[in-house]
Amino acid sequence: MKIPVLDLKPQYQQLKGEIDSAIARVLESTQFVLGPEVQLLETEIAQYLGVKYAIGVNSGTDALIIALRALNIGAGDEVITTSFSFYATAESVSLVGAKPIFADIQSDSFNIDPTTIKDKITTKTKAIIPVHLYGQPAAMSQIMSIAKEYDLKVIEDCAQAFGAVYHEDCIGCDTTCDESERKALTGKYVGGIGDVGAYSFYPTKNLGAYGDGGMIVTNDDNIAELAKMLHLHGAKKNYHNELLGYNSRLDSLQACILRIKLKYIDHWNSARRNIAKSYNQLLANNPNIITPIISKGHVFHQYTIRVTNGKREKLKEYLGNLGIGTMIYYPIPQDQLPVYQGQYSPNPISMKLAEEVLSLPIYPELSLENVEEVAKAINNFE
Ligand SMILES: *Cc1c(COP(=O)(O)O)cnc(C)c1O
Repeated sequence: MKIPVLDLKPQYQQLKGEIDSAIARVLESTQFVLGPEVQLLETEIAQYLGVKYAIGVNSGTDALIIALRALNIGAGDEVITTSFSFYATAESVSLVGAKPIFADIQSDSFNIDPTTIKDKITTKTKAIIPVHLYGQPAAMSQIMSIAKEYDLKVIEDCAQAFGAVYHEDCIGCDTTCDESERKALTGKYVGGIGDVGAYSFYPTKNLGAYGDGGMIVTNDDNIAELAKMLHLHGAKKNYHNELLGYNSRLDSLQACILRIKLKYIDHWNSARRNIAKSYNQLLANNPNIITPIISKGHVFHQYTIRVTNGKREKLKEYLGNLGIGTMIYYPIPQDQLPVYQGQYSPNPISMKLAEEVLSLPIYPELSLENVEEVAKAINNFE
């Protein structure tokens, strides 16, 4: 691909000196799993996000599973989440024995529509998992009010949203939610708003490691204590295991790489926002495209357009032939995947958007020239 959808090389080349020497330092220390690098990363991320606890784990999926377990969610419980996400969100709910219940999304934010949540609440409902999809904060003020009213826990799936900040211009929080709540949440990083936040450091994410990794964040002492136990085989003290836990540790090589990258994340996220602004301007007059809304705290993990003339596949192929990479996140809503076959009736907006979405190349080092070339190709497509 001439313009790939994602290129991780320029970032490594920029930081090669720093990263290579940090890796050498960890190798010399022979402290490969957990250890001081992981502790330092946990402290630095907790500070950055403004939360009390950050606990490194093996992946974003593990972060979700352990968060659910730490909230005592399991068999017989229901968890409301969005139809439109990567399958790890629903999978984690199913894996702990609970039943995912799927709410539809807002067509302008791609995130869970808070006005559809109440209808899904039953006596079995224990939690809501909003996903900050593509790096766009979900309507947290509304979601937190509903959670408060019905005594539900909130787990934020922040896998795509490291550094995203909730703002008053958040889509879906602008009319019917409590104004004082909205003001109180404004300026907060996602992940620290609900009871627990789950992050992924998969290499393609905004803050990406060079392997798998994840993090659980919380302000709650009990959740933190349980999550710490669960990620180390359910033990507070080695060889005195109290719970059925997991082997879900972050390794030191990933932690040392992430500590370096954390210093640049704000700069990278603002570069992503600038790319999104350029795309939006360049595609503004295309009648077949709906461009994403750029709310204040959006960190554009993906820049995703809607192709509304039914020619999404043709456009994708056309761009591919010009050497321009694109992706479809996601072609099938979670509840319609083969794994859940026949269990859920489809949510109409999620179904519609699954046929329209197309994610264009975006990464901090993508040049304006390349952005212009992609937009021009799209605008030339008949
Ligand atoms: C990537 C991702 C996950 C899972 O993270 P892993 O680290 O790959 O396990 C969960 N939810 C969403 C929305 C994601 O994009």
